[in-house]
Amino acid sequence: MKENTCETDKKHIGSVVKNNLCCFCGTCQAVCPIEAITMDCSGSFPVPIVDVSRCTQCGLCRSVCPGHEVDLQAITKDFLGQAYDRPMTGFHLDCFTGAVCDEHLRSQRTSGGLAKEIAIWGLENKRWDAVVVSQFSNEGFCRTKTTLAATVEEVERSAGSLYCPVTCGTVIRQIEKKNGTVCFIGLPCHIQALRKAQQVLPWLREKVCFTIGLFCSGTPGVDATRFFLKSHHIDPNSVELMVYRSAGWPGQIQVCLKDSDVLHCFPRGKANTFINHLKFATAFHHGGAFFHPRCSLCPDYFAELADISLGDAWKLHLDAESGGWNTGLVRSRCAEQIMRELQQAGRIVYNSIGTEQLLKSHKSSIQMRKNLLSAMNLHTRLGFQKPIFTGQPKGTSNFLLTLLCRIQWFCKKRAKAQAHWNGLWVFTFIVSFIQKLNNFIVQRKEA
Ligand SMILES: Cc1cc2nc3c(=O)[nH]c(=O)nc-3n(C[C@H](O)[C@H](O)[C@H](O)COP(=O)(O)OP(=O)(O)OC[C@H]3O[C@@H](n4cnc5c(N)ncnc54)[C@H](O)[C@@H]3O)c2cc1C
Ligand code: SF4
Ligand code: SF4
Ligand code: SF4
Repeated sequence: MKENTCETDKKHIGSVVKNNLCCFCGTCQAVCPIEAITMDCSGSFPVPIVDVSRCTQCGLCRSVCPGHEVDLQAITKDFLGQAYDRPMTGFHLDCFTGAVCDEHLRSQRTSGGLAKEIAIWGLENKRWDAVVVSQFSNEGFCRTKTTLAATVEEVERSAGSLYCPVTCGTVIRQIEKKNGTVCFIGLPCHIQALRKAQQVLPWLREKVCFTIGLFCSGTPGVDATRFFLKSHHIDPNSVELMVYRSAGWPGQIQVCLKDSDVLHCFPRGKANTFINHLKFATAFHHGGAFFHPRCSLCPDYFAELADISLGDAWKLHLDAESGGWNTGLVRSRCAEQIMRELQQAGRIVYNSIGTEQLLKSHKSSIQMRKNLLSAMNLHTRLGFQKPIFTGQPKGTSNFLLTLLCRIQWFCKKRAKAQAHWNGLWVFTFIVSFIQKLNNFIVQRKEA
């Protein structure tokens, strides 16, 4: 096995990065007391770099890092006050489908628009004083920033789903300086990092009083967007503004170019042509060539440590004419109360559904999670350390599944080396075929 770690690397987050386990949340940078960590954003994913000449090896960055270790059981007990008894979904009080009632707002938001609606409701009713939101920054192509929004307009202006890296954790420094309490919106790994940081920083525990987690099957790197634009003959450097999901559900990718009034729209789903669907899938379908290897090891699709978790309502055939729908899980009494208030105020539609229906809606992402053990086996065979996720479901693995994972890994590596679309889609096709084969084998084993 390759040796990826030296002793001092184990004190800070150096070994996490070397073992391909960093999920680029940015939390380590925010908590380092001597600011010895910087994020290098020149590549497809941000990478934390430790200035070892200044590092005092205090270990704080490593203790908040979700990349190498998350104790789902202990954190569930600590923050939700409950036993971790439902390993595929995390502890929850209810599963639901829902959406905001205002059709205009709903068409402008990502799915059913509940993430922003809950955040705004809390601001209006003084449950919290600011909301952690993310959006594009103007620091470079596909660069994002996470900030504190203190007004309804600022929350509304934040982005819909950003399918590129977001280093949400860097906002912790702003939270420290801000008076009052905060609602945090982020991906599952952002929430894991926040929870770990809250366990070691008591002031952060007091200040972040509510968390909204977004379901996540992976974040594509900046190169995915670059590839997508190039496949449509758009020069990434000429892009002024880009929205990943806009105009209805599941929405379009909209691109506005510098020096032009023309809005380029690329539909998703059934409205797409076959070739354009292939281009979209090559760039953005989970498990594809542009996703970080750490995402294939991720144990947490449903944001299991948040107060409330939200995703799309895929495959439930709800009326999408008037806009999208969320599916979600209510995990805390506070979230339950807020959803009741929003319903009574006539702001949202909320319908309880069974856990089975929720799992059906997210079948393909769940299948990927069931393949976790094969992905972990491959990770170790490639010479990297395994992450430790206490509480994750055992999943299934055998020689064939690990071999398929390995072929998939090889194809992704080859695909990334292809600068041009013509070469890339062949590998992408093989990758998704293997994914489907993997899922089929897991299903057969379960049956
Ligand atoms: C990378 C990524 C992968 C996802 N994968 C899935 C999936 O596989 N299945 C599924 O059902 N749902 C997935 N989602 C969630 C889904 O796209 C919607 O975000 C979710 O349904 C909430 O919709 P909404 O209408 O309630 O959000 P809105 O009311 O539109 O609010 C969106 C909020 O999310 C925040 N935000 C946007 N992007 C990011 C980001 N990258 N990191 C942190 N915060 C962000 C913004 O600040 C904004 O406030 C994913 C989201 C992302 C960003
Ligand atoms: S804290 Fe986040 S950014 Fe830092 S090493 Fe860990 S996963 Fe990566
Ligand atoms: S070990 Fe301490 S000083 Fe060193 S990088 Fe991490 S947080 Fe900073
Ligand atoms: S799949 Fe997991 S590790 Fe990857 S971005 Fe999503 S929550 Fe983070």
